[in-house]
Amino acid sequence: MCHNIIDGRYHTTCGHFISMSTRLQDCLRPNCLFSRRHIHPIGCKSQSCIRLMALPVRNPIRISPTRCGDCITRERDGTILGVQ
Ligand SMILES: [Zn+2]
Ligand SMILES: [Zn+2]
Ligand SMILES: [Zn+2]
Repeated sequence: MCHNIIDGRYHTTCGHFISMSTRLQDCLRPNCLFSRRHIHPIGCKSQSCIRLMALPVRNPIRISPTRCGDCITRERDGTILGVQ
């Protein structure tokens, strides 16, 4: 099954993940609708073809020991910490 890989920055202080770019990881299976190897590019009606993508995977390419921009803004605006 194909899935998206989300490259981004992980903020260790607040635990938030900020996505920077998303790319598709192709599973290269002929029975997957999202793969470029899919054998029915037009009007696939096969019951055995996979029609779902797997859950996206987060790929932290940067680690920041700080809070994310959202958290800094929220704190500056006086919102109570811990409320999402
Ligand atoms: Zn796939
Ligand atoms: Zn198909
Ligand atoms: Zn945050």
